[in-house]
Amino acid sequence: MSISRAQIQIYDIIDLFINKFYYIISFLFTPHIQEEGMTMSKLFAKTYGFDDGHKQKEPAQVWFTHSIDGLVLFVVFYTQACRWGKCAGCNLPSLSSSHHIGYLDIMKQVDTLFSRTDVRKHRKDIRQVVLSNNGSVFDQEIFSTTALMYFMAVVNRELPNLAVLTIETQPDYVDMEELEILARAIHEGTTPTTLEVAIGFEAYDDRIRNKVFLKGLSLREVENLAEKLAKHGFRLKCYFMQKPVPDMTDEEAVRDIQDGIDYLHKLATRFGIAVTMHLNPTYAARGTILETALKNGIYAPPRLADVARAARYAQGKRVAVHFGLNDEGLATEGGSFIRPGEEEFLKMLERFNETQDFSLIEEKG
Ligand code: SF4
Repeated sequence: MSISRAQIQIYDIIDLFINKFYYIISFLFTPHIQEEGMTMSKLFAKTYGFDDGHKQKEPAQVWFTHSIDGLVLFVVFYTQACRWGKCAGCNLPSLSSSHHIGYLDIMKQVDTLFSRTDVRKHRKDIRQVVLSNNGSVFDQEIFSTTALMYFMAVVNRELPNLAVLTIETQPDYVDMEELEILARAIHEGTTPTTLEVAIGFEAYDDRIRNKVFLKGLSLREVENLAEKLAKHGFRLKCYFMQKPVPDMTDEEAVRDIQDGIDYLHKLATRFGIAVTMHLNPTYAARGTILETALKNGIYAPPRLADVARAARYAQGKRVAVHFGLNDEGLATEGGSFIRPGEEEFLKMLERFNETQDFSLIEEKG
């Protein structure tokens, strides 16, 4: 683990007293929480459980979406949960196992994925695969290298028109040896394919990212990864969350995304790599502090109009933007960023994902 992560342990304690004072205040002055018998430690803790009842030979989630590259197959394999597990607004580990899932079961999940009727039907149209385990695919303790190689072999055999393989991970698990082997494997596919490594960046502001959201990510780690990817001409995708914590106003949240776009533009220019910002409007996830903050009236998800406004800043820069518009069924009641009457707006953002046409998200009126 990097030094920045060790520092985060200390930040945990400091945050309790400094950055999260409003939670303490809200606890003291919100009778229904006290009536429910919730202790202070439970107020701060995540309250979700793991999904240990899931069938070990089936992926956790599979869905189709569209990007500028075309049809996207998104697969989340069922593995042991993310070992970091601290990020404030995240309940993705609730879709994972509390214990290790071995390589034979993950390989079976690969077989299950490629025997699905929808995957078989569209296999020649699939242009991008996003490989996830709701954590870090490059974490060998959780996602076996044998299973990853098996996945690569089946992808090469089954998806003849693949253009991009995206792998989600924390950056410190990525090493040059794995990138080298993956580079050779994807070049053996039928069509030219590139690799994209996707990392959770969440917020540009260092205090918000590491002291409040507890991401444990330094800019140095991002830049080290960009340097590794540049050696192979691979792409980088960074997941950002607009308004990831209650500490931010709507205006500050827009500014943070714009600062992130500036940073990614400089990164793309410096290392000569393609960079995408995957911009997730934050939803209040069940079992996290955002759910508590939502119930206490000190947090509201960002408005889609503000999300589009933040993204417009990328026009003319070396940063592609893709809106993440799926709450994966993990939002608490009333905690989604999709408000009644915004269905058309949502469709427009989806069209933007497929076209990068900024006229679709121009300010109206
Ligand atoms: S955001 Fe990613 S790294 Fe953080 S706890 Fe969730 S799965 Fe783990």
